[in-house]
Amino acid sequence: MKNVSDYFGCKVFDDRVMKANLSAKVYQSLRKTIDEGEKLDIGVANAVAAAMKDWAVANGATHYTHWFQPLTGVTAEKHDSFISPSPDGGVIMEFSGKELIKGEPDASSFPSGGLRATFEARGYTAWDPTSYAFIKGKTLCIPTAFCSYGGEALDKKTPLLRSMEALNKHALRILHLFGNDDVRCVRTSVGPEQEYFLITQEMYEQRKDLRFTGRTLFGAKPPKGQEMDDHYFGVIKPRVAAYMEELNEELWKLGILAKTEHNEVAPAQHELAPIYTTTNIATDHNQLTMEIMQKVAAKHGLVCLLHEKPFAGVNGSGKHNNWSLATDKGVNLLSPGETPYENAQFLLFLCAVIKAVDDYQDLLRLSVATAGNDHRLGANEAPPAVVSIFLGDELNGVLEAIETDTPYAGAEKTQMKLGVDVLPKFNRDTTDRNRTSPFAFTGNKFEFRMLGSSNSIACANIMLNSAVAESLKVYADRLEKAENFEEDLREVIQKTIKDHKHIIFNGNGYDDAWLKEATEKRGLLNYSTTPDCVPHLLDKKNVQMLTSHKVFSEAELKSRCEIMLENYCKTVLIEANTMIDMARTEIAPAVSAYTFDLANTAAAKKHVDMSVSCNYEADLLKKLARLEDQIAVKTDELEDAVMKLQEEECVETEAFMIRDLLLDKMGELRIACDEAETLTAKKYWPFPTYGSLLFGIK
Ligand code: ADP
Ligand code: MG
Repeated sequence: MKNVSDYFGCKVFDDRVMKANLSAKVYQSLRKTIDEGEKLDIGVANAVAAAMKDWAVANGATHYTHWFQPLTGVTAEKHDSFISPSPDGGVIMEFSGKELIKGEPDASSFPSGGLRATFEARGYTAWDPTSYAFIKGKTLCIPTAFCSYGGEALDKKTPLLRSMEALNKHALRILHLFGNDDVRCVRTSVGPEQEYFLITQEMYEQRKDLRFTGRTLFGAKPPKGQEMDDHYFGVIKPRVAAYMEELNEELWKLGILAKTEHNEVAPAQHELAPIYTTTNIATDHNQLTMEIMQKVAAKHGLVCLLHEKPFAGVNGSGKHNNWSLATDKGVNLLSPGETPYENAQFLLFLCAVIKAVDDYQDLLRLSVATAGNDHRLGANEAPPAVVSIFLGDELNGVLEAIETDTPYAGAEKTQMKLGVDVLPKFNRDTTDRNRTSPFAFTGNKFEFRMLGSSNSIACANIMLNSAVAESLKVYADRLEKAENFEEDLREVIQKTIKDHKHIIFNGNGYDDAWLKEATEKRGLLNYSTTPDCVPHLLDKKNVQMLTSHKVFSEAELKSRCEIMLENYCKTVLIEANTMIDMARTEIAPAVSAYTFDLANTAAAKKHVDMSVSCNYEADLLKKLARLEDQIAVKTDELEDAVMKLQEEECVETEAFMIRDLLLDKMGELRIACDEAETLTAKKYWPFPTYGSLLFGIK
């Protein structure tokens, strides 16, 4: 086995490779583009392209692709080979700066939400030099942004980069007010923890629901679920361990810092966490991680399920977005500092996040809204659909003391004076790790836990960055004009605490009492489904904020709103159709075959001895016959509902009809089928049950 440090990043055109393969002049110029966003000239682009191609070819690549993240949720790539004919009848491998910088894929088959008229099918991809190119298979992948010909973003990377820029701009203004003039840029960092399920490929293939929708649409509760908690952090099974080992190797080759792995709460559920990095790169890496997780699983005869709720009644899978912001000098702005002044600065950034999360609860909620995540948020093991912040007792105490001008009862029992007192140290180990909060402060970062396991982390971070940029802008506008900086700073912090403390909740987020308090007493938003929240993307305050920071244009927002609703409708419709198909062609015939055999058995018994009662067969027959009827009726009703939806033209109305009608019908059909499963002899049941799926890996 090779040493990890020998092959880590061997498939990445990273800084080490650039330094070794570019002239000093070209390297410096490229670094300026990467670090400071300076425009790249074509001469440099040509030199970089040539070096990239030579390196890629030397490492086995024959093709290149602009790799991007359209609004479908997966990544897209169109491969072109490097070959170009040479006069002697052979080929040479070519790749120009122009090809590196810009591509023109046909955009017509990607969702645009009305942004791209069909006659203008072309879109273009533009190289993102801040994320390193890498080799996948035999293809050099160049991370790019994807836009329409009119320049509107059709992807997730473009607004993410814009939101990072907005945050950088206003964070710098604040830092300069605190005299940190040497700071040149502020970036957000993210470490996404990724949950997933592993099942065997053999069982997966037998279930249409898993194949078509990524989740089980039927399945009775198994005799054993997760109640014993014996899986969490338990010994990893050899087959899973082998999978994880190869997964790590593949990720490391791609320069992805996969760090921790363990079993999760539910049987067959696991987690992978990388070491955090710049948000833009973390987003690309998470996208790649999800892809590689599935690829490696296939090699091991397994399937990796990334759906938010593959099994009803069993924990869902989320993604924890650990988020912080740091300067180019390596200072984490969410770490309480060493000096009073640094602490005041820390408190201001903390307040900026509190204000942002409160003012834009709706944007955070809708950034994670999908049909899949609707099954998770609000269910009793996932964060509730209400957004709130957990700060922990210590920090909460500090904020209360500031708000009320009273002495802080912590370490020194003295009155907190900003700019004078040093805050107590927040050791992350002493902060209560509240796992029920959707947005928790964990010592030096915030952990946003509402993301679904298949979500791109781009969306949540776009909203988070933009909202925090807005808070910082409001603060900077005020403080730049301050006559007495310290006095105004105190006021700003105090006012933020007063105005926004209703978003802070340190208790149990899974408690029903909290839901009541949050919505009735505190007036927090509770959008429990995707159609409830997505249309709020177009609320005036949200459009105003996002357009003022140039993260989205109004047209882009409209298109995104439409695409999110469209995705929701399509997802649930596919599920409904899959249910109809499975109920009619698999479940009903299985139950029918079993009842037929039961009836024959009873008749045969009677034939032998007229006096036997055949109670067992007779009772079961009655129950199953009733369920068969129900299954037939419920399937027809579901089909009618689907037909009705197909006539609806407005996507928003359709989404609401799905929420109010279709999901109920699906639930009713499922109940009948699941009950039939519990009564039908095992050998008749047409596909693997929950028990087999969840405990199937030996
Ligand atoms: P948990 O107990 O939540 O599993 P971990 O220590 O495993 O906590 O950290 C979870 C994730 O948080 C990791 O991906 C880690 O790299 C990331 N993380 C740690 N510090 C920061 C930070 N300052 N900014 C962003 N992410 C961070
Ligand atoms: Mg965590």
